[in-house]
Amino acid sequence: MTYQEPDQNGYYGQFGGAYIPEMLYPNVKELKENYEAMIADPKFKEEFDGLLKDYVGRPTPLYFAKKLSEKYGAKIYLKREDLNHTGAHKVNNTIGQILLAKRLNKKKIIAETGAGQHGVATATVCALMNLECIVYMGEIDIARQRPNVERMRLLGATVIPAKSGSKTLKDATNEAMRHWINNPTDTHYIIGSVVGPHPYPDMVAKFQSIISEEMKWQLQEKEGRENPDHVIACVGGGSNAAGAFYHYLDALDVNLVAVEAAGLGVESGESAATTALGTPGVLHGSKTILMQTNDGQVVEPYSISAGLDYPGIGPIHAHLFDSGRAQFKYVTDDEAMTAGVELSRLEGIIPAVESAHAFAALGKMDFKPDDVVVVNLSGRGDKDLETYIKWGNY
Ligand SMILES: *Cc1c(COP(=O)(O)O)cnc(C)c1O
Repeated sequence: MTYQEPDQNGYYGQFGGAYIPEMLYPNVKELKENYEAMIADPKFKEEFDGLLKDYVGRPTPLYFAKKLSEKYGAKIYLKREDLNHTGAHKVNNTIGQILLAKRLNKKKIIAETGAGQHGVATATVCALMNLECIVYMGEIDIARQRPNVERMRLLGATVIPAKSGSKTLKDATNEAMRHWINNPTDTHYIIGSVVGPHPYPDMVAKFQSIISEEMKWQLQEKEGRENPDHVIACVGGGSNAAGAFYHYLDALDVNLVAVEAAGLGVESGESAATTALGTPGVLHGSKTILMQTNDGQVVEPYSISAGLDYPGIGPIHAHLFDSGRAQFKYVTDDEAMTAGVELSRLEGIIPAVESAHAFAALGKMDFKPDDVVVVNLSGRGDKDLETYIKWGNY
C-alpha cells in the first residue's frame, strides 16, 4: 500500500471501509466496480479534461506571492482554486461525479450541503447535464446561507430542509443517505468531500488530484523542480487537501501540512479540531477519527467557517495523522480572520474563510529562505463578506 491508494476494501491503514446499511450494498458495489475503469477510460478523461479546461477554467494559476514571501521568509506560491467556476475547488469533484452518473444511466442526483458550496457546485453540473437535482440542507443552514440557497434554486435544484437533530450538515447527510436507500436504482449521490463509504474517499481524491498534478508542472516551470518543500491546505472533510497532497503523498521529503479549524480554541469546547479532540469511530459510512462523547454520540463542532465545521475528517487524513505522514495544525477563528485580512491587504486577494485557515498556518512554521511553499487557496471570499463584516477588524 502507498499513501495514495487505499487497499481493495477502501482502507488507508486502519481507516476507511464501507459501513453502510445492507440496502445500499448494490449502489456502493456498482460504484466500486465501475469507477476505476471509468476514470481510466480515455473517453471519460477527454470529456473530464475538456470540461475542466473550458467550463471550469483550468489550469488554475500557481501564483508567486511576493509580499507574502517577504513577510514569512520563504518562496510562497498560491494555488488559485479560488479562480474556478463557482469559486472553489468543489466543482472539480462534481464534474467528475456527474460524468460518472451519466455513464451509470442515473436520472436523479442528490447531494448534502452545509454552507451551500457543494450544493451550488452540484446544482451547477446538474444544470449543465440536464439531470434532476435535490439538495439536502439543514434548516438552520438554510436560514444562515440564504444566497447559496437562492443560487441553487436559480440553477433549477430543489433544496429540502433537514429538520432532524441539530438541523445542520450532519443531519442533511443523514437525510441524503436515507433518500438514497429509498431510491437506489435511479439516483446517484454526489458526496462533496473525501468522506463517506468506499469508494467515495478514493474517487473524490482522484478527481481533486488535478490540483497537485498541475502544481507539479507549474513548479517545474517556475522553480526547475516538481516538488515543493511544503504544501499547506485546510481540512474540513479534506478534499482540497487531498487534491493538493495527492501527487506528493509518496514523496516523503515534501512536508504536508493539514490545517484544522480550532474555532474559539482547541480546548474551548467550541472547536472543529478533529484530530486534536477526536477518537476512532464510524461516521457517515467510514471508519475515521471523529469528535464524539465516551458513549459514541457525535459532538457538535464549531468553526466560524461553515466549510470546516464538520465533526470528522476523511479516512485518508485520519491515516496521514495516525502515521505521522502529515503535520496537523490548529487555527482559531481570530487567527484565520486576521490571515484573511492580511492576504487581502498584501496580495489583493480576499480568501474564503476556510482557505484563510491555511494562510494562518504560515505564522506557525519555520522556513529557510529558499524553501518553496505552496498554499492551496481553496476558494474565494465573496461568499464570506458577511463574516468579514461581522468580525470587523479591518
Ligand atoms: C467546502 C470547502 C472547504 C472544506 O472542504 P474540504 O473537503 O476539506 O476541502 C474548504 N475550502 C472551501 C473554499 C470550501 O468551499
